[in-house]
Amino acid sequence: MEHVKCLIIGSGPAGYTAAIYAGRANINPVLYCGLQMGGQLTQTTIVENFPGYPEGVDANQMMMEFRQQAERFGADIRDGIIVKADFSKRPYRLTTDRNDELEADTVIIATGASAKYLGLDDEKKYNGQGVSACATCDGFFYRKKVVAVVGGGDTACEEATYLAQLCSKVYMIVRKPYLRASDIMKKRVESNEKIEILYEHNTLGLYGENGVEGAHLVKRKGEADEERYDLPIDGFFLAIGHQPNTEIFKEWLELDETGYIKTQGDTPRTNIPGVFAAGDCADPHYRQAIVAAGSGCKAALEAERYLQTL
Ligand code: NDP
Repeated sequence: MEHVKCLIIGSGPAGYTAAIYAGRANINPVLYCGLQMGGQLTQTTIVENFPGYPEGVDANQMMMEFRQQAERFGADIRDGIIVKADFSKRPYRLTTDRNDELEADTVIIATGASAKYLGLDDEKKYNGQGVSACATCDGFFYRKKVVAVVGGGDTACEEATYLAQLCSKVYMIVRKPYLRASDIMKKRVESNEKIEILYEHNTLGLYGENGVEGAHLVKRKGEADEERYDLPIDGFFLAIGHQPNTEIFKEWLELDETGYIKTQGDTPRTNIPGVFAAGDCADPHYRQAIVAAGSGCKAALEAERYLQTL
């Protein structure tokens, strides 16, 4: 069976940064890219908030450059998905989607999180053309435009507040007659003149010739009554939660109630020695590329130190 000193799972900013550091530390990292090479960022277009790119950078190009930088330092980057983990004893065992088995002294989990979507065909049709799951990434493209945010939790309120600074009008499409968000976030959106909350509304679809031009909505009116109408908008932002990609680790690792990997203090250490978590799979709060990259760095430094103790 193949033996690796440092196995990295995931190819977003956390995974690649871990690979850069682990490569430079000569611990011969092997990185499995996972389902979406380059991670969540490749869903967006231009990244304008990553330091070092004053003019912004194409998200796919940036992730290719992360990869090239990791390869330059000897990281072995492979297509493929880790589908099974056994952390019962060291070396830890991992299985790929091709049924290859590996054993690893250290594992850095950087599997990210996936934004939840409503499941409408139109979300796919207009992806990148008016549909987004990240206001911080894409909000800037909707300056002085009208947008809608779906969801009534803290994320939706935060995204709506952020977008209200840029857009001329922000609708919140909320399926319940109330917001689920914390009081402070509720007050913030309720008192913002640019934000209009559409309670008891659901989205049936989107329309538009060149990207999103509006949403087909349905408003619940009492027990059996409903009203359908079209709302003209330029952007449709999903904020109905994220799902961390941690399913295969739940047997071994401590997760919080929503599935994020619990780490110790501000370190990337998990409850299993030598297994580290970096990036969005362990971060329910910030979910930014730069934060993920920083935590990938920490995880690689921890892995290097851990290997010295073996
Ligand atoms: P939440 O699960 O808290 O909220 C999700 C929202 O989306 C709810 O309003 C939910 O409606 C709605 N929703 C879910 N599925 C659908 C659907 N299919 N159709 C329409 N609406 C839907 O997720 P968040 O991402 O907002 O927050 C996750 C966690 O992170 C929370 O604990 C939150 O407090 C925390 N957080 C904290 C922040 C802060 O403190 N600054 C910022 C962001 C997040 P319903 O209520 O009907 O279920």
